[in-house]
Amino acid sequence: MKLLIVESPAKAKTISKYLDGAYEVKASVGHVRDLPKSNKKAIDVELGFIPHYEISKGKEHVVSEIQALAKNADEIILATDPDREGEAIAWHLAELIKEAKVKTKNIKRVTYQEITKEAIEEALKHPREIDMNLKLAQEARRVLDRLFGYDLSGLIWKKVRYGLSAGRVQSPALRIIVEREREIKAFIPEDYWTISGEFKTEKKVNLSLICEEEPRQEKEAERILSEAKNKEWNIVDIKETKVKRAPKAPFTTSTLQQAASSRLGFTPSRTMGIAQKLYEAGHITYMRTDSVSLGAQAVLSISTFIEKEYGKENLTVRTFKTKSKNAQEAHEAIRPTHVEKENAGSNDDEKKLYRLIWQRTVASQMSDADVLRTKILANIHGATIPAFSANGSRTLFPGWLLADPDAKGDDVELPKVSVGESVDLISIEAQAKQTQPPSRYSEAGLVKELEKRGIGRPSTYASTIKTIIDREYVEKIGSALKPTDTGEVVSTFIENNFAKYISDEFTAEMEDELDDIALGKAQYIRTLKNFYTPFTKDIKEQEKSEKATNLGEADPKFKCPKCGGSMIIKLGRGGKFLSCSRYPECDGALMMDGTEIKKDEPIGLHPETGEPIFVKVGKYGPYVQLGDGSATEKPEEIPVEVQEGKKKKKISKPKKIKPKMASIPKEKPLSEVTVADALVYLSLPRTLGTHPESGKIITANIGRFGPYVAHDGNFRSIKIPESPYTIELSKALELLAQEKKPRGFAKKKK
Ligand SMILES: [Zn+2]
Repeated sequence: MKLLIVESPAKAKTISKYLDGAYEVKASVGHVRDLPKSNKKAIDVELGFIPHYEISKGKEHVVSEIQALAKNADEIILATDPDREGEAIAWHLAELIKEAKVKTKNIKRVTYQEITKEAIEEALKHPREIDMNLKLAQEARRVLDRLFGYDLSGLIWKKVRYGLSAGRVQSPALRIIVEREREIKAFIPEDYWTISGEFKTEKKVNLSLICEEEPRQEKEAERILSEAKNKEWNIVDIKETKVKRAPKAPFTTSTLQQAASSRLGFTPSRTMGIAQKLYEAGHITYMRTDSVSLGAQAVLSISTFIEKEYGKENLTVRTFKTKSKNAQEAHEAIRPTHVEKENAGSNDDEKKLYRLIWQRTVASQMSDADVLRTKILANIHGATIPAFSANGSRTLFPGWLLADPDAKGDDVELPKVSVGESVDLISIEAQAKQTQPPSRYSEAGLVKELEKRGIGRPSTYASTIKTIIDREYVEKIGSALKPTDTGEVVSTFIENNFAKYISDEFTAEMEDELDDIALGKAQYIRTLKNFYTPFTKDIKEQEKSEKATNLGEADPKFKCPKCGGSMIIKLGRGGKFLSCSRYPECDGALMMDGTEIKKDEPIGLHPETGEPIFVKVGKYGPYVQLGDGSATEKPEEIPVEVQEGKKKKKISKPKKIKPKMASIPKEKPLSEVTVADALVYLSLPRTLGTHPESGKIITANIGRFGPYVAHDGNFRSIKIPESPYTIELSKALELLAQEKKPRGFAKKKK
């Protein structure tokens, strides 16, 4: 038996159809191994940044199936996608097959740009070894991103707020959005006037003309208006220019995402999902590429098609050059696999995207369009005001626009006039306008910007944007990306303390170095070391820096609703708010617009003690509080999650009872918290009983790292389905008896 492995079931289905039973085709369903989640120790830095992989959750079954099939295979072909990611998956599969003690040494790698019968058959004629440089480049990216994200996120947790994150590509992308927002805020609009007039030619044909200048002063606009009236107008010039319009290069990932956004309204991730389907069904070439070139065979068949369909005069074979330097990865542009198929796809979205790709590809090999542009200029006698003009255009020769008519735009016909001809002014008006701030990026616009700045690669654009939206650092308003308060604070913190690491230059250089690893021109260890040594030093340096929870003084017009004192801007879960500068002595708070945050009304009373129960929002998120804190007695212990780090505040003066508080689970909407819920939350920390050996008490609680049981300074996480509200002593003892795992450390595989 011959075994061929790909990553997606859809691809497996298409290929197996082509191979007609010659191979058993199996899908790995994406990655099978990865670094353990959220753990830096997954990488052995000292030994040379060696990653310790583990089989991804839920993939155990697929892996053992592949291993079993491999045992009976005489030949194993790894046919994953033709890029670094695909090469890495192939390598992981090969490693796992070797681990299963499979005797066959015949494991080979094949690649192809399109899933067509011809391409697959051709690829199978040229099997090769796994390209370790490509695999190392992928590994370096993975390790780099993990180290960067882990260390920087950790610092942000301490300095800004728990649970926030930073990423090597994600943070520069966020910075670009935040910078644009600052430009918008700093923008001072200016007034200007547009002046338009309606005229009639000698032949009594209507002609609309617009003033060539847009005055910034109302006085000037009024002057033009009054000069224009009751004067004799003439056509003073007619300019005709023949312009050539050349077609654009075939699609790369980035340009496809942009065109699909502007023409079809698709987001980049939607575009990529649809493109993947078209690729797997064999309709288009591989969709993750930064190449604009077309293969020789493809150019030949496209040319033949154009000649037949549009005639020889419309054919102009063109070569497009790719800027990208990863030559051996530089695939082809995204194009149809069979140009004769003008339509393909199994649903509306697929059909639309296919059509777009088809049009762009065919147009790229067609002749320039010739367009005649006409400009008519008119003015009053003596020309004491700027000229008025109208622009027209007419397509003389459509060329490539035949294949892509949507790119054409409408012809604008102007009435026939001649120089010197007089025209009658019928009406004229000035419109007051204001200059507009730069607009926010759309997702596709951001992709374009990222590519321009050399940040990220075709495989990362869509996922980077998705991450900053999912993390709620950026929100979408219509199609525009706007930073949230949290996004702004996080970005500002990183900009102030780690500017270098999220700069365009650094990020782009890093991508270049990864490309060099792929080309075998740079070393894995040296590249990582060059980054990591100074990076850890800088992180350490910043450990001493001040917390960024205080975002500055509030406008002095806002006073504390409780004590009348000044206010400070802070970042809460729900965004920025104003907090009394005397916090925690005074907990007066306002929303950013000055309305008071009502946290003084209890949601109800405790059924037994009659004490009021409040829902409040504190530094570490929403919590419930029992009692209003007016009782004075011995201070009680503060629950872990509302302590300020390790520093326990010594309460010296009047012995006010610290009221009992408990976190509200993040997923619970605050408005829905009932007294019954509050009682459950307030049941923590729960005493479960005493330990049979030590005699010391065992408690359950929720801390910064989630639910846990504690005994004599020993902690164990409580995992679902157990809960700190319900866990029993016996189960807690079981957990405590388990050997303490270093947090998330990679388990050694057998
Ligand atoms: Zn106050």
